[in-house]
Amino acid sequence: MAYDVIIIGAGPAGLTAGIYARSKMMSTLILESGKVGGQLVALYPEKGIHNYPGYETVQARKLSDKLYAQAESMECEIREYQKVTDIIDGDQKLIVKTQNAEYETMSVIIAIGMGEFTPRKMDAPGENELEGKGISYFLPLKEELVGKKVVLFGGGNSAIEMAMVADQVTETALVHRRPEFRADEINVKNLAESQVRTYMSTTVKSFNGTDRLESITLLDAEKKEIEIPADLAVINIGITADLGVLNKWGLELTENGLIKAGFDMSTNRNGIFACGDVVDYPGKYKQIITGCGEAATACLSAYKFVKKPYWA
Ligand SMILES: Cc1cc2nc3c(=O)[nH]c(=O)nc-3n(C[C@H](O)[C@H](O)[C@H](O)COP(=O)(O)OP(=O)(O)OC[C@H]3O[C@@H](n4cnc5c(N)ncnc54)[C@H](O)[C@@H]3O)c2cc1C
Repeated sequence: MAYDVIIIGAGPAGLTAGIYARSKMMSTLILESGKVGGQLVALYPEKGIHNYPGYETVQARKLSDKLYAQAESMECEIREYQKVTDIIDGDQKLIVKTQNAEYETMSVIIAIGMGEFTPRKMDAPGENELEGKGISYFLPLKEELVGKKVVLFGGGNSAIEMAMVADQVTETALVHRRPEFRADEINVKNLAESQVRTYMSTTVKSFNGTDRLESITLLDAEKKEIEIPADLAVINIGITADLGVLNKWGLELTENGLIKAGFDMSTNRNGIFACGDVVDYPGKYKQIITGCGEAATACLSAYKFVKKPYWA
């Protein structure tokens, strides 16, 4: 059986596409290379989201849980740990290949966000040895932070917001290599009013510990060494994304290496649409709300392509 639509990626854009596809009664399969939730779950599960309409604030993983539950309640078929490797033209249909299966479909919506992402490392001595033993690239659940000395690294919104979350339950410090943060004013203000200790213009000399992280040696602006005790270091200095699969899929890309999409979220390939962070066009704004909006459009386009309603 060929699905009406296969959606690749189960971040907010992919899940929204699923919800819209099912509301049009299209047979729908979502394939996700990891776990459902995209960046919200993989990169900032504890962070509050303050700009998703309908919620004054909502924890990222809770918003993802809501989208997941809504897609499931609409009987969207979702398969995790199915990395899509290829999309091939078949006879009047498309064939979507994963590492261990292949599926037939009448249309495809690509919603792979940043692709496979890996957090950027600081490349400081001790970092590799202590990864998973007190060094992490995302903030663990709040309950796991209680009683720990937490030190965060980074100067953007996400590092500040994670520091604010940790500060609610434990002793927290934030280290940034520059003299100023690169974050929204509201976050900088909230941070200044919190208990978080900040170290500006400060870098890491080494992460120290034998079996677990025990302390961190910092270097301040005058290159003076400061050793601070730490049970958990959370490094949040950016992400390296790998969208290499796009080159294989015969899609026209922009100079940013993202999918060039039309106003209806169509790509250069027949029956293949795209939405979310993976899409690029002038004025593109990578946010959850914009990705979800594009998903609705991509879905309507896929519907018209597959069902060819008289009014389209
Ligand atoms: C630290 C941080 C904080 C942010 N805070 C906010 C905020 O407060 N508000 C806001 O609106 N936006 C925020 N954003 C941006 C927001 O997270 C993204 O715009 C949003 O996640 C994009 O959704 P998406 O579904 O397009 O992609 P993603 O969330 O990246 O999901 C894509 C999914 O596709 C999967 N995938 C990738 N490749 C394949 C493949 N080959 N086969 C199958 N599946 C695949 C991935 O595993 C992933 O689950 C933040 C981003 C970051 C990094």
